[in-house]
Amino acid sequence: MREALLHIDGRPVPAEDHATMDVVSPVTGRTVARIAHASPGDVDRAVTAARRSFEDRRWRGIAPRERARVLNRAAALLSERVHDLAALETEQIGRPIREMRAQLARLPEWLEYFGAVAQTDRGSVPDVGAGQVNLIRRVPIGVAGLITPWNHPLLITMKKVSVAVAAGNSVVIKPSELGPLVPLELARLLEEAGVPTGVVNVVTGAGATTGRALSEHRGIDKLDVTGGTETGRVIAAEAGRRLIPVTAELGGKAPVIVFDDAPLDDAVAGALFASFIATGQTCVQGSRILVQDTAYDAFLARLLERVGGLRLGDPADTATQIGPLVSAVQRDRVASAVEQARAQGVTVAAGGRVPEDPALAAGQYYLPTILTEVTTSHDIWRQEVFGPVAVVVPFHDEEDAIRLANDADFGLAGSIWTHDTARGLRMVDRLDIGIVWINDHHRVDPASPWGGMKDSGIGSENAIEAFHAYTQMKSTVINTAPSGADWFGTTEPMRYS
Ligand code: NAD
Repeated sequence: MREALLHIDGRPVPAEDHATMDVVSPVTGRTVARIAHASPGDVDRAVTAARRSFEDRRWRGIAPRERARVLNRAAALLSERVHDLAALETEQIGRPIREMRAQLARLPEWLEYFGAVAQTDRGSVPDVGAGQVNLIRRVPIGVAGLITPWNHPLLITMKKVSVAVAAGNSVVIKPSELGPLVPLELARLLEEAGVPTGVVNVVTGAGATTGRALSEHRGIDKLDVTGGTETGRVIAAEAGRRLIPVTAELGGKAPVIVFDDAPLDDAVAGALFASFIATGQTCVQGSRILVQDTAYDAFLARLLERVGGLRLGDPADTATQIGPLVSAVQRDRVASAVEQARAQGVTVAAGGRVPEDPALAAGQYYLPTILTEVTTSHDIWRQEVFGPVAVVVPFHDEEDAIRLANDADFGLAGSIWTHDTARGLRMVDRLDIGIVWINDHHRVDPASPWGGMKDSGIGSENAIEAFHAYTQMKSTVINTAPSGADWFGTTEPMRYS
């Protein structure tokens, strides 16, 4: 069994009261790691270390090109270790190794991209008229508290750390208690590449204790959270009280809108990818599959056939397509959402139960589930299940598809499947959604903004916008007039500007 300590000021340290938490395998039910459970005192030590590193300018004070060199070295180290880190993610959270390898192989790109942004981002000089020059520069914000979930432990931590550190900030990371080991590895790897100690600190522990202590700490200058909408509200309220900026990437209920001109096999493959990758545990999961009525029967028949063929199994096996849910709590949530839907009269067209295979009995498995005969008044239409459950609902025309797709509290992501690009773009225009894919789903890139509307959050990750959100502007106005104005030395009219 692995033991993991906190990472503060470049050193592994136990929690001050030696409290620990267990990380339990969702495959075997056995404890795979014991992690330190950080107290408010430990969080304070981490924030103090981060503050010291920020104030003495050991990282923010060096040229962006040197910061980029360090981040590129970290990217190279990460590429070398992808195999091991992917295996570690799989062991803790149960996501199939095939997915974790594919996902982690792309993460060096975030370090490379934000290193490049740090070197190329420029200030500006707005024309404020003769006699004055106005220089606008961007400077780092300070110490950021990064709070991350378990479903993509390294991807989401990387999205936040890469941009925060490239912009010259120092950070304290609070990873999910269900998947904390790889974010800890990332902190060590960044230091190995040359990020000075104290710039990246990690405090592991529960949300209600360690996470709360971090979000309430007065030494934090920015909060950046990915998690459930209720968690986001609590953390954003704290940021509001303290008047510090907050980025919040929260829940979703993504529509997958399939028009009858989309090639059937492509649309079905796309819907499967949208709904069941990560065993449905993604914020952009295609949980509402909307199909044009003229294609509905053929689509549903083909979808059910494909769902029946998905391979559940040990996530460490490269042939496995669907792993377990992350925990018993998560499986109970999924099962009770499906039971409630059944009780409300919804039809369970596939899945809707725990698999019978005795080889899977020790794990938190749940069959990929398709629900039909769902209306907008059913709870399952609205609630984020965060598991392998999708509803399939017919629509008549564009207007009807827009009405259904926008009928949600969330507005994170969605996809449109059609060969008619003009129609796709017309639809995008009217969807209250932050990320829309046409003939694709789930695609993420460091250069492409990622953020939701409505209850899905505030602000966005990735791209130059995220870099700017990790900086604050400093405006310097220089008087270039040959002699100074003397406001009180004259009664002549003067311009006040
Ligand atoms: P969660 O809200 O339970 O936890 C997220 C993180 O917040 C964890 O580190 C947790 O320990 C911490 N936390 C919990 N309560 C806290 C509190 N009161 N104060 C401070 N920290 C606290 O979410 P989860 O179960 O880990 O992840 C699933 C949720 O995350 C889903 O709702 C999903 O949609 C969302 N998510 C969103 C995105 C996105 O990009 N929008 C991506 C992935 C996941």
